Amino acid sequence: MQYRRLRNGKKVSVLGYGCMRFTKNAGRIDLPKAEREILAAIRYGVNYFDTAYIYPGSEAALGEILARNHCREKVMIATKLPYYLVKSPAMIDRFFNEELSRLQTDYIDCYLMHMLSDVKSWERMKGYGIEKWIAARKKEGSIRQIGFSFHGDTDTFIELLDAYDWDFCQIQYNYLDEHTQAGRRGLQYAAKKGIPVIIMEPLRGGRLVTQLPAQAKKAIADYPEKRSAAAWALRWLWDQPEVTVVLSGMNSMEMLRDNVRTAIHSEAGCFTEDERKLIREVRSAIRKSAKVGCTGCSYCMPCPQGVDIPTAFSCYNKMFLEKKKNSVRREYFQVTSFKKDRSDMTKCIGCGKCERHCPQHIEIRKELKNAEKALLPAPVKLIMSIANKIANH
Ligand code: SF4
Ligand code: SF4
Repeated sequence: MQYRRLRNGKKVSVLGYGCMRFTKNAGRIDLPKAEREILAAIRYGVNYFDTAYIYPGSEAALGEILARNHCREKVMIATKLPYYLVKSPAMIDRFFNEELSRLQTDYIDCYLMHMLSDVKSWERMKGYGIEKWIAARKKEGSIRQIGFSFHGDTDTFIELLDAYDWDFCQIQYNYLDEHTQAGRRGLQYAAKKGIPVIIMEPLRGGRLVTQLPAQAKKAIADYPEKRSAAAWALRWLWDQPEVTVVLSGMNSMEMLRDNVRTAIHSEAGCFTEDERKLIREVRSAIRKSAKVGCTGCSYCMPCPQGVDIPTAFSCYNKMFLEKKKNSVRREYFQVTSFKKDRSDMTKCIGCGKCERHCPQHIEIRKELKNAEKALLPAPVKLIMSIANKIANH
């Protein structure tokens, strides 16, 4: 494993473990499987584990696994305050203490304001005394480093970086988002200020692997050096010295081993001009074929009408990327309609609640209408309603 440094001088593995995508069975985290994967990651030298209050079951699973294997001291835990739910100073303590208890620990190495959207939101938290609160937690040692995660635009990111003396920050960054979100300009600004940057969504929720168009897959396959699509995306990040940790939501041993292998062989400045050219080719092929830039993060969920928004966009994109209309329509129908409570997009009433939470600023209502036209022609809708009646019988 390779290591870079946090602001307090601690060595942190360049590959971090994103704990949002543990495998689930019937809606519950498969704990034995997650345990095997986490312990293997620790053996490979991964020492940074990222979770959040709002990831269902994630903090408790991570806490349980680390505690029963006596690994707490070997790793750093990053978790997040759902500041947007905070309505009083007392609620900050309540969330934090609950997180400590779920994680079975008495300190958090890296604590983040989750999805801090702008300086106004930070000012609101200041009104609740967050600065004094952070200083007190740092003094007693229950928080070691303080940061924020971010999904907005570059200028807002820079304003936020300047609004407080942050120890680190976390941004969405990958070769498709080089100039969107915080972007390369934001990353470099943070680095100039000496603020380590943790990268999330390096594979855009897996889309840079599972939904590559044929032309992009071919460019990767034809390249003389054989690497997986994920390896190329991660290597593109580690080439940049401004990147500190890259989080990957690993939920298979194969994925873990591939990522570890890439981490071992990717140093800052490792990219050649030919490699850059390959990424440019892959990127332009993706841009030509994707319809909606959804990362599958689920921040827009739950929809009050029960619409499964990420699945709608995932299938919509797949339809164009894989060019297999009927199999994708069948997949969408199976996932959303052959069950008691339908979750297909025909249930959308256009309330707009989801759009307020989408970090990618997707016009969800408009795009759902487009997706509906493509995925659900009249005969498919008819079959769906019959299937749903059967499921409800
Ligand atoms: S706009 Fe549609 S999809 Fe979004 S929250 Fe409202 S009903 Fe759900
Ligand atoms: S629509 Fe936006 S919030 Fe919802 S899953 Fe996609 S990217 Fe995430």
